Amino acid sequence: MGLAGEAEIRGETSRMETIHTVEWMKQVTRQARAEGRLVGLVPTMGALHQGHLSLVRAAQQQCKPVVVSIFVNPQQFGPNEDFSKYPRRLEADSALLEGLRVEYLFAPPPAEIYPDGFRTYVNVEGVSERLEGRSRPGHFRGVTTVVLKLFEIAQPHFAYFGRKDAQQARIIRQMARDLNLDTEIVVCPMARESDGLAMSSRNAYLKDDERRAAIVLYRALDAARQEIAAGERDAVRLLAVMRKVLNAEPLATPDYVEIVDADTFEPVSRLRRSCLALLAVFLGSTRLLDNMLVEEVEGAGSSFRVSL
Ligand code: AMP
Repeated sequence: MGLAGEAEIRGETSRMETIHTVEWMKQVTRQARAEGRLVGLVPTMGALHQGHLSLVRAAQQQCKPVVVSIFVNPQQFGPNEDFSKYPRRLEADSALLEGLRVEYLFAPPPAEIYPDGFRTYVNVEGVSERLEGRSRPGHFRGVTTVVLKLFEIAQPHFAYFGRKDAQQARIIRQMARDLNLDTEIVVCPMARESDGLAMSSRNAYLKDDERRAAIVLYRALDAARQEIAAGERDAVRLLAVMRKVLNAEPLATPDYVEIVDADTFEPVSRLRRSCLALLAVFLGSTRLLDNMLVEEVEGAGSSFRVSL
């Protein structure tokens, strides 16, 4: 390892190091582990916003060094999806991470991650086939494959994911458990714009009228939240409330609206333990996700805490 790299691992310089190769990323994090440091990984596809940065801050509370990966993973996009037009802003992202004093940015080119002849995939059965998995066949296989590779490369003690992609976080946790991975999965809260829209790199695709209409996802969840506060526990009635709000917005085309058990991702008929209300909605050609976590408060009768 070069002197600059060693100095960086010891925290003697504050400049972020950008790493493009698997080999160097492996060396750097293995060295950090050997020195007894806690390595944190925040996997992203870039076009960073405050949601991503909240994951970075959570990582910095627990870990040093923190590695942020930026990789627009071709394997998780379907043939008719937005892989080629997905926003790529490495320079601006790099400046944001540098501003947060992140130690390492891992930004490999696609051939580093998928060299010619690549043939091995990871699939978490069952929960990967529902909701997002049903609408986007092969999506989660691409996600779990790249995340397992990133874990192998960066060897993180902790890896940080957003509840924004609740099903993804659940699937990765399952993979970590099933494959005895040494990485603890941390799921962080949702970051929203001031009007309630869940932050997303894909929000950049929205035309002005679509952007205004996009708050309908939040409004649908909020309407269900109010019903829950008023005592409603029936999932069918809560779904009807959400669909009514969505249907009143002409620019919105729902893909799915479901209330599921937060562990199994199977639909529930009544709220219980821990549930997720999940939405996928098209605004024009842009597909947006949102969700709300509904958790039973122990020892409080049938009282539920809602996290939007
Ligand atoms: P992406 O770059 O879209 O693949 O997202 C990278 C990570 O950031 C994933 O774990 C997402 O769940 C998380 N993330 C994206 N948007 C948000 C948000 N609005 N709030 C919290 N986490 C988010």
